[in-house]
Amino acid sequence: MSEHDKSTNVLVIGGGMAGLAGALALRENGANVTLVERAPEFGEVGAGLQMAPNASRVLKRWGLLEKAREIGVQPKHLVFRDAITGEELTRQTLGGEFEERYGAPYIVIHRSDLHRVLLEGCAAAGVTLVNDVMVESVETVNGRGIAHTAAGVDYEADVVIGADGLKSTLRPLVANDEPVPSAYVAYRGTVPITEDTPKADLEDVIVYLGPNCHLVQYPLRKGELLNTVAVFKSASFERGEEQYGGVDELEAAYKECVPAVQEALKNLGTSMRWPMYDRDPIENWVAGRMVLMGDAAHPMLQYLAQGACQALEDAAVLQDVSNGTVFTADGVRPEAWDSAIREFNNVRAGRTARVQRTARIWGESWHVSGLARTLRNLLFKSRKDNDFQYNDWLYGQSGDGVPSVEAAHARQAERISA
Ligand SMILES: Cc1cc2nc3c(=O)[nH]c(=O)nc-3n(C[C@H](O)[C@H](O)[C@H](O)COP(=O)(O)OP(=O)(O)OC[C@H]3O[C@@H](n4cnc5c(N)ncnc54)[C@H](O)[C@@H]3O)c2cc1C
Repeated sequence: MSEHDKSTNVLVIGGGMAGLAGALALRENGANVTLVERAPEFGEVGAGLQMAPNASRVLKRWGLLEKAREIGVQPKHLVFRDAITGEELTRQTLGGEFEERYGAPYIVIHRSDLHRVLLEGCAAAGVTLVNDVMVESVETVNGRGIAHTAAGVDYEADVVIGADGLKSTLRPLVANDEPVPSAYVAYRGTVPITEDTPKADLEDVIVYLGPNCHLVQYPLRKGELLNTVAVFKSASFERGEEQYGGVDELEAAYKECVPAVQEALKNLGTSMRWPMYDRDPIENWVAGRMVLMGDAAHPMLQYLAQGACQALEDAAVLQDVSNGTVFTADGVRPEAWDSAIREFNNVRAGRTARVQRTARIWGESWHVSGLARTLRNLLFKSRKDNDFQYNDWLYGQSGDGVPSVEAAHARQAERISA
């Protein structure tokens, strides 16, 4: 094989939600797309995922929303409760006005199901999907991105999309930083819903807020499974221990919580735990013809349930900025990638930085105790259902001056017609 054995328009590195979405988006524009993934098989571990309307609108654009809706669940409400008393603090009805306002549903779906929907979408669209490829570095030579792999095979492309997750190998090309541990650890689990499953809140996303801990529950797979996520602050992390957040700490963290929460801990798998990390936002995601997306670009704490949602928004904007510029009616203009990926970076960095920062603050408000908890509860209880003032910037179609997917699309259309 020659030095650059594989040549393509677009090379995507990483087959998580971000990489698959990015690959599909650019394939929709007519690109030849190759996606490489280091794992021997494509797949996702973990449990459920919340897809807010800003992300389900993107699925709708690609004709994948109905598939996701069929295998997922459309919860009736998002409900916050105090974990110590069980008292309801606030709720958002997720159908009706909410869905109309945001133009798409709120869905909860098993990670592996959404991953499969995207993977099948890529395969059907003609993305070349390759496993067992560990990319070690990327460089730009003569306006082409070249990915060097552990096996010694080079991939060459007009543009390289780095979607290699939180611990990205490619991020050092644009930033000298490390993932930031939050001291919180998650345990997750999915169990079948049976006659014995407590019936309360079974059709809702329910979040119990406690001091230094919270617990989230919602149904999955058409209501056949119950998803539980427990997240707590690890005392052994605070003591500086490397292996922090063991099962002993899990049980201790929830001992003051209502029986419904303590019972729910039984639904968790305890063989795996997820220490929670994010990174500080960075402005530049571009190095030569390589651009980051998804967690590689903007990893965030999970409190807003937006990591994968933001990856889908990334993909939609990548699609828009290259449509009509790189991919034109007269053919592919690879030289236009330089401005297209800059445009993508400009449209997305401010928005995702806001989501990253808000996720940190939102999480802090969940875990308070004492007077702060009393005040938090008062504030939450004063909020009425269908008060959208806190949601519009995140789920809205172009609310608040935020360059949403649709706004980016409109700007792109203006540029083309100018
Ligand atoms: C507890 C928890 C709950 C969450 N809940 C939600 C939620 O409800 N809603 C939501 O939207 N988000 C949620 N998220 C966030 C979401 O899971 C992530 O943001 C999203 O999965 C990131 O996708 P990604 O593709 O960017 O990264 P990843 O999923 O990490 O994928 C990266 C891929 O790249 C591959 N790779 C890495 N390095 C290389 C390399 N050098 N060469 C080749 N391949 C490589 C990896 O094997 C992997 O397949 C949650 C996260 C956690 C931890």
